[in-house]
Amino acid sequence: GGGAQGKKKMEGAALIGIDVAKEDDLSEWYQQVITKGEMLEFSDVPGCYIYEPASYSIYERIQDFFNKRIKKMGVRNCYFPIFISEANLQREKDHIEGFAAEVAWVTEGGKNKLEKKLAVRPTSETAMYGYFSKKIRSHRDLPLKLNQWNNVVRWEFKHPMPFIRSREFLWQEGHTAHLTEEEAGKEVLQILDHYAAIYEELLAVPVVKGKKTVNEQFPGAHYTTTVEGFIPSVGRGIQAGTSHCLGQHFAKMFDITVEDPKAKEGEKREKLHVWQNSWGLTTRSIGIMILTHGDNKGLVIPPRVAEIQVVIVPVGITAKTTEEDRERLYSEVKALEAVLLEADVRVETDLREGYSPGWKFNDWELKGVPLRLEFGPKDSAKHVVSAARRDTGEKTEVPITDLGKDVSALLETIQSDMLKKAAGEFANCRKIVTNWDDFVPALNGKNCCIIPHCLDGKCEDEIKELSSGKIEGQEVDARAPSMGAKSLCIPFDQSYEGFKEGETKCTNPKCDRLAQKWVMFGRSY
Ligand code: AMP
Repeated sequence: GGGAQGKKKMEGAALIGIDVAKEDDLSEWYQQVITKGEMLEFSDVPGCYIYEPASYSIYERIQDFFNKRIKKMGVRNCYFPIFISEANLQREKDHIEGFAAEVAWVTEGGKNKLEKKLAVRPTSETAMYGYFSKKIRSHRDLPLKLNQWNNVVRWEFKHPMPFIRSREFLWQEGHTAHLTEEEAGKEVLQILDHYAAIYEELLAVPVVKGKKTVNEQFPGAHYTTTVEGFIPSVGRGIQAGTSHCLGQHFAKMFDITVEDPKAKEGEKREKLHVWQNSWGLTTRSIGIMILTHGDNKGLVIPPRVAEIQVVIVPVGITAKTTEEDRERLYSEVKALEAVLLEADVRVETDLREGYSPGWKFNDWELKGVPLRLEFGPKDSAKHVVSAARRDTGEKTEVPITDLGKDVSALLETIQSDMLKKAAGEFANCRKIVTNWDDFVPALNGKNCCIIPHCLDGKCEDEIKELSSGKIEGQEVDARAPSMGAKSLCIPFDQSYEGFKEGETKCTNPKCDRLAQKWVMFGRSY
C-alpha cells in the first residue's frame, strides 16, 4: 500500500469501510475490499489463502453451472492423487520444461528422507495419463472424458495476489481423449464457450476468446485457446481460462493407442495415438470478478452468484415508535421475506439490534449484496418497499403486490447492466493500432492494443522489450517483473479494418516480416 499519504478518505464510509480509492491505489483497495468484505483471509504461508464462505459460495455456483454443462457432454468427475512420481512428471519434455521452475517437492515423510521425491501436482496430465493408457484398449473406449475439481500447487516466483495468482489454487481440470483431431478440436471450443459463459453469464465479466501464440501456449500443448479478461483500472490483461488441444504428444509418451477402426478385414490394424485435450479454470475467476465490479464502497457481486441477493433492512423506527408498531413492522418484514423466499430469491433480513439503518447499509454495501430493500412505516402505508441497487446506487419503489416477480426481474436487470457496463469499459480499452508510435502511448493510457503481427516468437519478445522499462513521467509498478506488453491472444474475431495479408508489415518497427494476424498485446497480470 502507499501509506496514509495520498489516500483519499471516502465519504460516509465510517470505520468499517474502504479508506482508499480504487483509482488511487488498486492493490491496497483490493486487499481492503476482499478482507473487509469477508471474501478471503491471509494465512502464514505466503501465496496461500483462506477462502471464506462468501467467496467459496461463488465457487460453488461456478461448479454447479459448469458441472451441468460438461455432464451434458458426457464428461465424468473423478479424483487423482495429489502426488506425482518424478519419472511420470518428466515423461513429456516440453511439459516438464515449462513447469520445472514452479514444482513443489516432497522429500521427507516423517523423520525419513524419501527414496524418491514426489512432486505436488502443478497440473495432472502426467498423473492421469498412465491410467488413460491402461483404460483405453480399443476405439470403443473413446472418447474418454474425465474432470476433477481439485487443488494444485505452483510455486510462483511472481508476486502472489489473492485469487489472481496464488501458490495453491482450486480449479477444475478436464482431461479427454479422442479418436480424431477433429473431434478433439470441436471439444476445445465447446469448453471455451462454457468458460466464456461462466464469465459473461455468471460473473458479468466480459472476455475475448482467442488462440494463444506459440510463445504463450501451455507447455506440451499442440495449441491453446483462451478467454482473456482485462482490468481497466490498471490497464492489464489477465488470462481467465484456457482450453488446450494437447495433440498426440502425451499419447506418444504414455503409449495411449487404439487399433485403427477403419482398417479393412484381413489387413494389419495400425496403432493410432489418441488426440487429447486438457482444460482448466481456477479461483482466479473470483478475483477477476472482484476487480471488475468492486467500487469505493466495497464489493459488488453479480446477482446470479451472490450468496445473498437481497437484504431487507427495517427503517423508520425511532424512540417514539411504540413496541406494538415495531412488532407490526417486523412481522410485515418477515412476510416480505417469505414472499421473496417463495420466489427463490436468496434473501436475508437484518434485524440486528443496536445498529442504525445507515450502519447496516454500509455493511451490506461493503459485502456487495446486489439489492437492498428498505421497509418502514411510510413504505407500509404506501404498500411499497424502497429498493436501492448496489451497482448504480439507483433507488426505486417496488409495489408489494408483485414483490417476488418484480424483485426477480430487477435482479436480472442488475445482472445484465453489470455485464453491459463492464463490456463497454473493456471495449473502450481495446485499441486497434497499426502504427508503432501509437503502441506504447496506448499501453500507458491503460489500454491493450490489437495490432497486425507476424506471429514470430522472437518478435513478441522484442515487443515486450521495446514496451518495457521506465517511461518518463509515468509510475512503474515495482512489483511487476516486466511491464512490457506480451501477446494476450490471437482473437477469433479478426474482423478489423486496416491490414492486407501479404502486404502489411508486422507492427514491430524492428521486424520486417509480413503481418499474419491481428494479435492482442497488453501489459498483464
Ligand atoms: P494452465 O493449466 O496453465 O493453462 O492454467 C489454467 C488457468 O489457471 C489459466 O488460464 C489461469 O487463468 C489460471 N492460473 C494460472 N496460474 C494461476 C495461479 N497461480 N493462481 C490462480 N490461477 C492461475
